[in-house]
Amino acid sequence: MSNKFIEFQKEVETVKARCDQGEISEAERDKILRHMKLQDEAWGDTWMMSPKGEWFRKAKGSSRWVRDYPIALIDPATLPPISEMDLPQITRAVHDCTRCPLHEGRLRAVPGEGPPQADIMLIGEGPGFNEDKQGRPFVGASGKFLEELLGNIGYKREDVFIANVVKCRPPGNRDPQPDELAACRDYLDRQIELVNPKVIVTLGRYSMYRYFPGASITKIHGQAKRFGNRLIVPMFHPAAALHQPKWRPALIEDFNKLPQFVKEAQAFYQASPEIDPDSAQQLSLL
Ligand code: URA
Ligand code: SF4
Repeated sequence: MSNKFIEFQKEVETVKARCDQGEISEAERDKILRHMKLQDEAWGDTWMMSPKGEWFRKAKGSSRWVRDYPIALIDPATLPPISEMDLPQITRAVHDCTRCPLHEGRLRAVPGEGPPQADIMLIGEGPGFNEDKQGRPFVGASGKFLEELLGNIGYKREDVFIANVVKCRPPGNRDPQPDELAACRDYLDRQIELVNPKVIVTLGRYSMYRYFPGASITKIHGQAKRFGNRLIVPMFHPAAALHQPKWRPALIEDFNKLPQFVKEAQAFYQASPEIDPDSAQQLSLL
């Protein structure tokens, strides 16, 4: 496989090698790397690499650099089953997934983003208009509100992993259908397994149903339930709180409890590190 991402990666390696050999200082290396950009005409994205070798993408129409991985660097023929994929492989697989009809209407799939070992994972419903354009979750009005909610507790959006129960935009923002949720489920299961967050916040009904089938969000929002060594906290979807201002204070209040939930979940981990949250979750559903 030869492409401009590989070429770019080689150029970055050359700069890093010059630093390792003492030709340039670390500060000079970092300055050079900050100015090295790769333009991807296919999507209009800009890419760069950090000195640690991590890829960052700035989507067209966005001013934000986000950790990502160029799918051009992964040969789809080398992908293992979803249950064995790593996060970049999930990005690759989701990009050209055709497991459900939602692939027909998508511009870009939205695999999710965030630190590979985030303490908190937020799970929304599915991409909307802006997300579909940028290939990133929560970049529209709900995303702005989400950033505000995170800001209230001293978090930035880059501190949390953000995913959705379906990775492709339902036409006209309709609700995801059961067959679509089922088809997409393996990707999210694997993301949860890999990131292994201490706390999962479900935003809206569809992600809540993963853990609390048939529950009523107005009754259980903001209450954390332990699944293995993890806490799951259902909350209102930010879009619902934007459309129905009466839910807004509840969502703000629920978010404000998050730091305490992270602490509580951290304590479980120290008490019983051997419990695998996913197998415990399976058991509690039986
Ligand atoms: N709403 C969602 O549920 N997910 C997104 O990614 C954006 C809006
Ligand atoms: Fe595949 Fe999920 Fe997109 Fe359906 S929504 S095509 S299952 S990635």
